[in-house]
Amino acid sequence: MSDPVVYSTVSAARAACDTLRAEGHRLGLVPTMGALHAGHLALIDHAKTLADRVMVSIFVNPTQFGPGEDFSRYPRMLEKDVEQCARRGVDLVFAPDALEMYPEGERTRVHVAGLTESLCGASRPGHFDGVATIVTKLFAVAGPCTAVFGRKDYQQLKVIQRMARDLLLPVRVVGHPTVREPDGLALSSRNQYLSEAERQMALAIPRGLRDANRAFDAGERNSARLRGGLERALESAGLRIDYVSVADPETLEPFSEAVPERALLAVAVFAGSTRLIDNMVLGEERPPLFDAA
Ligand code: AMP
Repeated sequence: MSDPVVYSTVSAARAACDTLRAEGHRLGLVPTMGALHAGHLALIDHAKTLADRVMVSIFVNPTQFGPGEDFSRYPRMLEKDVEQCARRGVDLVFAPDALEMYPEGERTRVHVAGLTESLCGASRPGHFDGVATIVTKLFAVAGPCTAVFGRKDYQQLKVIQRMARDLLLPVRVVGHPTVREPDGLALSSRNQYLSEAERQMALAIPRGLRDANRAFDAGERNSARLRGGLERALESAGLRIDYVSVADPETLEPFSEAVPERALLAVAVFAGSTRLIDNMVLGEERPPLFDAA
């Protein structure tokens, strides 16, 4: 297996992708911010089943971070990431710098209305404009047939799917299930920030989702009760809640009372200063810790 070619400029990456397409290859794209873990690698494997060439982009996108968020301390380890890509059979890595993606004087943002207003959009104003903008640019550089995103960032997946549809972009946006540690914690580059004590606290998230799913399976269809049980579990573990929401899996609008047969249960909490998110679709997905004793 040969090492991926690493591109740092838009022009070189675009030329390489143009050539691949001209040769009749189907290109899959996996956008990331690097610090790759098994969740990212699962996305790469998924992309390889849908395309015969895979590009991984590695770019810590400044416009999706708010003031006071962790942009400057976000983990950056390009060399190690490229090694992981090589082991996974990635063909191209695109790792530009900020000026390459946001040329001097740039003034354009992509805004997806509605879907970006609830959940993470409410507590991170402008975040999804940054996400939609960078993903549009990555699609414009690579021209992929398919792009794979994790369901761990469920709202992001829905925003990108909506954006691709609305802008008539010729790319299929595919979701991949959340990859978890054996103890249920969703893998995240931000887990590196957690102290041992915070990591223990964070286990209340998958356990709480599992318990809420059990209640749902047992017939609970009251939004406040589903949320309340989860909120109490998170708070008693010492986590600070940003939001707990039971929402429509397509519109992301919260259900305030009755919950139908399929509903998104999404949480964002702080463990110390680290913000963690997780979710599951009740009535559709296996809960975290499904296979655990
Ligand atoms: P990030 O590098 O955090 O921006 O994530 C890049 C992509 O990997 C996004 O599509 C994420 O949803 C996805 N991802 C991150 N963590 C996980 C996980 N634990 N399971 C599945 N996908 C993930």
